[in-house]
Amino acid sequence: MRWIIMALLLGVFIFETAVSILNQKHSLRPIPRNVRDVYDKEGYKKWLAYSLEGHRYGLVQRGFNLMVFLALLMGPFASLARWVSLQTTSPIFQSLLFLGIYQTFVLVLGLPFGLYRTFSLEERHGFNRTTKKMFFRDTLVSYVVTLALGGLVLASIHALFLRYADNLWLFVLITWLGLAVLLVFVAAVLGKWFMRLFNRFTPLPEGDLRTRIEELGTTVGFNVKAILVMDASKRSTKSNAAFMGIGKTREVILFDTLLERMSDDEIVAVLAHELGHAVHKDTWRLLARQIVVMGLFAVGIGFVLQVPAFYTAFGFSDVHFGFATILFSILLEPISLLLGIPLNLLSRQAEYKADAFAAEQTDRKWLISALKTLSRENLANLNPHPLSVHLYYSHPPMGERIGALQG
Ligand SMILES: [Zn+2]
Repeated sequence: MRWIIMALLLGVFIFETAVSILNQKHSLRPIPRNVRDVYDKEGYKKWLAYSLEGHRYGLVQRGFNLMVFLALLMGPFASLARWVSLQTTSPIFQSLLFLGIYQTFVLVLGLPFGLYRTFSLEERHGFNRTTKKMFFRDTLVSYVVTLALGGLVLASIHALFLRYADNLWLFVLITWLGLAVLLVFVAAVLGKWFMRLFNRFTPLPEGDLRTRIEELGTTVGFNVKAILVMDASKRSTKSNAAFMGIGKTREVILFDTLLERMSDDEIVAVLAHELGHAVHKDTWRLLARQIVVMGLFAVGIGFVLQVPAFYTAFGFSDVHFGFATILFSILLEPISLLLGIPLNLLSRQAEYKADAFAAEQTDRKWLISALKTLSRENLANLNPHPLSVHLYYSHPPMGERIGALQG
């Protein structure tokens, strides 16, 4: 059993590395004709350098994480569980302490990588605007939120497991319902709250752009409650825009970086694309899909908790809830790679439809030039390998997207 799990981890690593190398090779091919003007000669050189470095960085980080994780599986996890069981007799506190220590270890281990990524890699390529102080604050806040929220969710699932240990399907069903409710709550309430933890939002001043966005909303039947500018530029130069909320009333979020770089026509086109998602009810569809995935997760957790051999193989005396969540995350990797294929396909189809909607509402030429600006500023890969697109791309590659708009 131990070797099967380890081989699984290694297999996923080798597969993802191979895809990453293929992708890197593929990006050296000639750029599709319709996006050839995204980068000038200098810009393209810049892009190649950034992409190659990101690829190498990813390989080193994933390789390092894999080695540490394999080493932990060889004994330290079981020793940690034994030590934790001496500290408290409550099984739920044991799981929380076990996973809390593991999470803290993961945080400390990841810190040098995060620092290098932000202050060396992104910095050298001109993306980074974060200060060290803000970096540590962000890291600390997300660590505390992860521990608090993750701890609450895990303690609840563990309590359910203790209560319904003899009725696995009831446990799976209640876990699923709980996770689904949590998902909806995060989408409707917590998501906004999280963004406010990290960013400041100010209303877009009165003026031409504001009027045009409000008019656009009204034309397609949405009430635009607020148009807010997010201070994304304090962290990164990358830009984005979004429509937040569900139902007929929406909030528009514009990254200040987007305002810096795009004309009003382009911004309105980008927002028309976002409105397309709302009109097509893509948020609901996505939520429905995520709820189905949560059901699979619940079954997965139930399954992992049923096989004592999983635990004895790694030096545990019996089923251990804390270690079960770690095993679950290992088994999840290949499963989510596979699940990603149909889910990303559906998502890419929704993107084409939202683009078509925006082209109808505004002028396709503004959306095309906005997409080109976004690609350039975000240093998008204009030539990803098809396998990489199938596995990871929730949005179509830019050449194909613009190709579809040009008809
Ligand atoms: Zn979209």
